[in-house]
Amino acid sequence: MSNNLSKILPPEGNQATPERKTVQTLTADDCRWPFGDPLVGVFYFCGARRRDGSPYCDHHIREAFQAPKPRATVHRPQLT
Ligand SMILES: [Zn+2]
Repeated sequence: MSNNLSKILPPEGNQATPERKTVQTLTADDCRWPFGDPLVGVFYFCGARRRDGSPYCDHHIREAFQAPKPRATVHRPQLT
């Protein structure tokens, strides 16, 4: 689990990292791209100014488009 966490969290001490927001501090204008994992006790949102019409900032809009899409043949859990 700790290996996964080091991959999804930004490097420590990087001052370019946007402000961290929690569920309590996130506002309607903040990017809600999630970092971390609530299961391991480290979880926050990007918090940068979001782009109109999108829940994410410019940077994370791009990341969302680059994320590998699940193949159509992948089993999907049924929503009941
Ligand atoms: Zn963002």
